[in-house]
Amino acid sequence: MDNEGNCLQLCDKFKIHCTKEKYNHILNAIPLSFQAMDKQDILYSNITPNLKQLCTDGVPFSDSRCNNTFLRSHLLHYYAPNPVRRKYILKDFKEEDIKKIRIKFMSSPVPPKAKEILFKIINNIYPSKEFLRTKFKINIGNCSFCETDNENLNHLFFDCMIVWRFWFEFQSWIHFKGIQSPAFILKEIQFRIFNKIKISSSECCINNLIILGKYYLHKCRFFRCRPI
Ligand SMILES: [Zn+2]
Repeated sequence: MDNEGNCLQLCDKFKIHCTKEKYNHILNAIPLSFQAMDKQDILYSNITPNLKQLCTDGVPFSDSRCNNTFLRSHLLHYYAPNPVRRKYILKDFKEEDIKKIRIKFMSSPVPPKAKEILFKIINNIYPSKEFLRTKFKINIGNCSFCETDNENLNHLFFDCMIVWRFWFEFQSWIHFKGIQSPAFILKEIQFRIFNKIKISSSECCINNLIILGKYYLHKCRFFRCRPI
């Protein structure tokens, strides 16, 4: 303890850099009689010990600079350093189409959870394994279905062979029901553009079925089973 009452730790005083376990190991190696003598010395000293100030990123919690904005940016920088590129996923679309893609699915007659999944896909925030790895540094392996490829958004909902087979069977079923639809491509499945003022009942039906198909894939991933 210095003359101001600040408790000096071994690491600070002797510039030792070691792990917490090694530090505790050193402390336990100090003889008990010496520890007792030190306690008595502090007990009968005229100096009042001061607790060390808690701080984050070099700024004490009691400092006026340590407000909510500072804490939020510090935590974001520490735990999620890579920003989400929400607009990048829709970079190939015109501005008016982007607005429609983002708004029109909200009025579809599908369960709210299915809309939530679509919202995450459209905004590039669906927690695929690649998203968790790049955003939060959580490494939890490959694709949930094929277990071999990297699980990014495109792979999980289209490129994976197992998922592709699911969409192929899905489209065959639609044709079997007598509903005509163009071949499913990635953008059709991801963003199914609602860019017409009036769409036919069959197109509306396909839109809703694709949203439910993506929700089904999400549920399969959640329950760790294959979609087909
Ligand atoms: Zn896969």
